[in-house]
Amino acid sequence: MRATTGAFAVAMLVVAACSSGATAPAETPNTTTPPPGNQTPGTPQPLDASVYPEFAFGTAPLIIIAPHGGSVAPENVPDRNCAECVTTNDANTQDLARQIADSFQARTGKRPSLVINVLHRRKFDANREIVEATGGYAPLELVWMALHTAIDSAKELIGASPGRGLVIDLHGHAHTVPRLELGYLLSGTTLRLSDSTLDAQGALDGSSIKRLVADRAGSIASTALLRGTASLGGLIAAAGYAAVPSPADPAPLVGESYFNGGYNTLRHGSLTGGPTDAIQIECNFAGVRDTALNRAQFAGALAAALVTYLGDQYGWVP
Ligand SMILES: [Zn+2]
Repeated sequence: MRATTGAFAVAMLVVAACSSGATAPAETPNTTTPPPGNQTPGTPQPLDASVYPEFAFGTAPLIIIAPHGGSVAPENVPDRNCAECVTTNDANTQDLARQIADSFQARTGKRPSLVINVLHRRKFDANREIVEATGGYAPLELVWMALHTAIDSAKELIGASPGRGLVIDLHGHAHTVPRLELGYLLSGTTLRLSDSTLDAQGALDGSSIKRLVADRAGSIASTALLRGTASLGGLIAAAGYAAVPSPADPAPLVGESYFNGGYNTLRHGSLTGGPTDAIQIECNFAGVRDTALNRAQFAGALAAALVTYLGDQYGWVP
């Protein structure tokens, strides 16, 4: 738990929930199943530290969440079987999140906070409300709370200084069009409206960057923050990675699949208040997260874009 301060509530929660109080390496198997004959049949057993999220508080006003890249799958945790539950992982996104954090630190000397769900998605979905996330398995509720308490604590750090910042919820998609899909809680139908219509309707007031739009009103149009050259999509597209929304690709076309942001983007963005805006980034596979070389190159490009974005939009100086 690099850079973790014991005073945070999340640390207390993890300590309370497991004997060691330390987050285990992501690939550590569950090895603490009680011996046969020492448990009541049908009684869920407490979960050990290996299933708890890995988190490291950073020194930059940026939080990176990797909810769907875990590999830990203890046999004593039932598979989620809720109707229409998605149980497939976003391949290589855990490694990608670490590389973005590393690259950001190499460029600035400051490190983002990193919150990584280590559980496989068939056991736990770290981008859902608690019932769907846990599949109704009560012992996982503490894992869910630890995840969001970690994010909330990192947000409190940012709120204290420098006051404003950004959450990136990092995913991978398998849609037909090979591009990054940036989610702001605005539907494809909404994105297909013109800039003038979106600005006039105040459509960004319903987005996960609501506070940024308000803070920068009078300086930059809301749609410029969404898909202009200064938007995150604009910055990463300028580095050679196709993205929607961005200046060249302002909206998905009718019939094209598009992820517009999930639970984490809603909860940890500024639509509902708080010091951080949030953007969900859904990465296509080829050329972005498939090989170690491509992940390193994309991580470097995204880190550079994020440094620019934090400086331009929040006035952050490393
Ligand atoms: Zn995902």
